[in-house]
Amino acid sequence: MIRKLFLAFSFVCILISCSTAPITGRSQLILLTEYQELNLGSSAFSQVMKESKVSTNKVYLDAVKRVGFRIAPVTNKNYQWEFTVLQSDQINAWCLPGGKIAFYEGILDIMENEAQIAAVMGHEIAHATARHGGERMSLGILAQVGAIAVQIAMKDKDPAVQYAVLQAYIPTVLVGAILPFSRAHEHEADEIGLIYMAKAGYNPEEAVRFWEIMYEKNKGQKRPPAWLSTHPPTQKRIDEIKKLLPEAMEIYNLSEKAELKVLH
Ligand SMILES: [Zn+2]
Repeated sequence: MIRKLFLAFSFVCILISCSTAPITGRSQLILLTEYQELNLGSSAFSQVMKESKVSTNKVYLDAVKRVGFRIAPVTNKNYQWEFTVLQSDQINAWCLPGGKIAFYEGILDIMENEAQIAAVMGHEIAHATARHGGERMSLGILAQVGAIAVQIAMKDKDPAVQYAVLQAYIPTVLVGAILPFSRAHEHEADEIGLIYMAKAGYNPEEAVRFWEIMYEKNKGQKRPPAWLSTHPPTQKRIDEIKKLLPEAMEIYNLSEKAELKVLH
């Protein structure tokens, strides 16, 4: 058993690579290589595309591609970028590792202009370029190694006791480490996304406007849509984005401005 634990830790140590998030410069512990992450991203994307219908709304498709191809170069990432809109009234958008981005029609329905697309695009792309997925997966691996350690420590105990302790241990890891992590990731993606949109020539004030629209939309909803539950449009979030605005506005003022196209 001890040998197994040793092997598990060696496995983790071999894979450890130190990484740095773009813009914020935060150092990260990521146990996957970027290459592994890109492969996961591409295969997940082809899977989703097999199961989904691409939107026939040409205005939406053109807008998302136009914004995407303006933001992609400012990230300095050599990804195989793909931008699409999927048929669904869900308020949702995502970016998989390697720059595979989808917006759902539902989130575009409530946006006013292309700068608001840029706000969400910048945020979602930031999750990918800052490798938040890889970081979370790494934490999952460490949590499992931790769980093995708990099992070993208790190997002489009654199996029912072992099971109970393990059940107690796992939620502790989730609440104690992974959830705060996701809040930190959200904040970091807001920060990086704001800089990305500004560099690409979109007014960062539209990010504040977008989150205000979301805030109104979310009010009084008992069960918020999936994207909103992981992206809560709280007053705190809006205030934090406002704090980042002066720096982003400086970048925007020096950028080559994108044309502000309305969506509806
Ligand atoms: Zn996010």
